[in-house]
Amino acid sequence: MTEENKNSQLDEVQRQLLDRLAKSDTSGFKQLLVGCRNVNFVDDNGMSCLAHASFKGNREAVQLLLDMGADINLNQHGADYTPLHFAALSGNAHVCRQLLDAGIRPGAINSVQRTAAQMAAFVGNFACVETINNYVTRSSLEYYTQLHGQQTEPQIPPSLLQSFHAFVTDINLHPVRIALNVQSLGLLRILGNLRKTLALMCEKEMQKSHDINELLAFKFHYQGWILAELIRCEEQFKAQHKETGEANKSDFLEMFVKRVLKENKLGQLDYVEYTLRECAREFPVRECTIFRQIALQLGSKDAPPALTILRNAINGMRGFVDEASYCSTCGAEKPDKKCSKCKAVQYCDRECQRLHWFMHKKSCARLLAQSQFQSQPQAKGAIDTAELREELAKLTA
Ligand SMILES: [Zn+2]
Ligand SMILES: [Zn+2]
Repeated sequence: MTEENKNSQLDEVQRQLLDRLAKSDTSGFKQLLVGCRNVNFVDDNGMSCLAHASFKGNREAVQLLLDMGADINLNQHGADYTPLHFAALSGNAHVCRQLLDAGIRPGAINSVQRTAAQMAAFVGNFACVETINNYVTRSSLEYYTQLHGQQTEPQIPPSLLQSFHAFVTDINLHPVRIALNVQSLGLLRILGNLRKTLALMCEKEMQKSHDINELLAFKFHYQGWILAELIRCEEQFKAQHKETGEANKSDFLEMFVKRVLKENKLGQLDYVEYTLRECAREFPVRECTIFRQIALQLGSKDAPPALTILRNAINGMRGFVDEASYCSTCGAEKPDKKCSKCKAVQYCDRECQRLHWFMHKKSCARLLAQSQFQSQPQAKGAIDTAELREELAKLTA
């Protein structure tokens, strides 16, 4: 036993648990955890096991600890960092989300008066900032799954509370993502009620007597607006296919996605531009900072796309952003896949690629030619003359 360990208050199992976390040995951590009676211990700096797992961004370990009753408020860390501060600092948005779902207070401040979101912004972890700032608790949404006044059924069926919560707290504001979320979360059948609920949530937020969150109010208004567009699309689609009746119920989503992604000759998204400007104009409260800020930016000369303006207003400026690191269909960050031909555009998955193909097929070949042209001089320069001589020798031998 080293000198350091002798003075430590940790027992052997606790010490090993932290050691496995530090080495990202999740399966070893898991095995040890089985024999651990109490996960609520702190190291010699007052940092809890949960805080360590959060700082490492270890989703699995965080979930295991939470399931075993880890106390999110156990905090004896000298600088008053909560596990959320640690997750935000290390840049793991998913862990931030797990901690928020477990009920951690996003507003808690550390010894230098900073919230977790502020710390994340400070180090440029924008996905964490957005995850925290967009968060509303699931229990705050329960109201809409209950009966009120003359209602014969709640606005949102209680069985869809979880989906509703996931929809409201998603940080991706791209209209295509909103539409795809509605489908994947099983909310298509309550589109109308969902839209009404979001309008109500916006109204309620702005009527609060204190702590009004204008950004959230605008976000609810925006989400509701996109849903209204989806509903309009559904009605048009139904009217078009009334006679044939052969269309699939969710085919209107595809029509909506194409409408959103259709570029004009300059590569701009006319429909999105028009819809979002209309959405901003119709925000019910004029006397507030966010409305004035958006109106000012939309009206400025050489204004960036409306989607960028709205995104920045709701989620905060991201500083330098490389557009190429987003899915060309739904705007998701750091997508996994690329177009296999041109490798110039990125997508989340096959579905996103399929939905974008009607536009991308027009530019894929050009983008491929462009990238080949750009890489040519470099490739030439990269050839070693000795290597070339060797190749020539082989040929002439
Ligand atoms: Zn995507
Ligand atoms: Zn391509």
